[in-house]
Amino acid sequence: MNFTDQQVVAGQSAEQPGPAAAAGVAVVTGGNRGIGAAIVRRLVHDGFRVAATSRLGTEAPAGALAVPMEVTDGQSVSAAFERIHQELGQVSVLVANAGITKDTLLMRMSEEDFAGVLDVNLGGAFRCAKAAAKPMMRARSGRIILISSVVALYGSAGQVNYTSSKAAMIGMARSLTRELGGRGITANVVAPGFINTSMTAQIDPAAQEKYLGAIPSGRFAEPEEVAGVVAFLAGPDASYISGAVIPVDGGLGMGHEG
Ligand code: NDP
Repeated sequence: MNFTDQQVVAGQSAEQPGPAAAAGVAVVTGGNRGIGAAIVRRLVHDGFRVAATSRLGTEAPAGALAVPMEVTDGQSVSAAFERIHQELGQVSVLVANAGITKDTLLMRMSEEDFAGVLDVNLGGAFRCAKAAAKPMMRARSGRIILISSVVALYGSAGQVNYTSSKAAMIGMARSLTRELGGRGITANVVAPGFINTSMTAQIDPAAQEKYLGAIPSGRFAEPEEVAGVVAFLAGPDASYISGAVIPVDGGLGMGHEG
């Protein structure tokens, strides 16, 4: 999709943007579907000019720019950021949301199963943070938001690869905070619990019932409930929050947060 200012404005007016209109440029990786798409819709609504990246880059929610980005490939990440800069302007918010699972028990987990998940979830966040930090350092302002998971600190059998990648995001956000905090850049982690998306639809119904029994809120969440927290962290009210881990899990991870 080719994106023009007119299209941004058309998308925004249809969505009736909130008070933070012209809030800046946001990049949401994996913004074409699931939680990422809900974040894109919310940031468009809040007045951001938003790029929604995905591997093919052929689809994005209304009002957003669809951009191809393979997060395991540094050149693809650089090219995507360059295009976003050209078409939307200097990036002020990064939401590193693209992620995969490849679940199996430790004894069956291959090196490829482990490294592949780390490369997408953690390596992707690293490559995008590096690309986004450049314009943010110049502007002496920026928000980096990493989408982790409740299981990062809770642990999860069959997810040694996934939980390792998600736990490491916390160290990443805190190191970014220490490295870039003095330049007006914040870095935070959002740790969702069980959210209704295609990722969780793969979990077998018996396991879903077991999870449900452990969640104090007694229900799974919708992607929009994660998007609202991301929008808060991207907005003006979160200017002094950095290095935080914010759970959106109905209480599932209580007592295990970092
Ligand atoms: P989905 O499976 O619905 O979407 C995954 C997204 O990641 C897609 O947009 C996909 O793009 C993108 N992606 C995957 N691999 C790559 C890659 N190599 N390069 C670029 N983009 C890629 O996931 P969810 O919406 O459920 O999850 C979003 C994030 O939230 C993930 O990081 C996940 O770990 C996390 N999370 C989800 C929870 C849940 O309950 N659903 C709970 C806790 C955390 P494409 O369409 O091109 O494949």
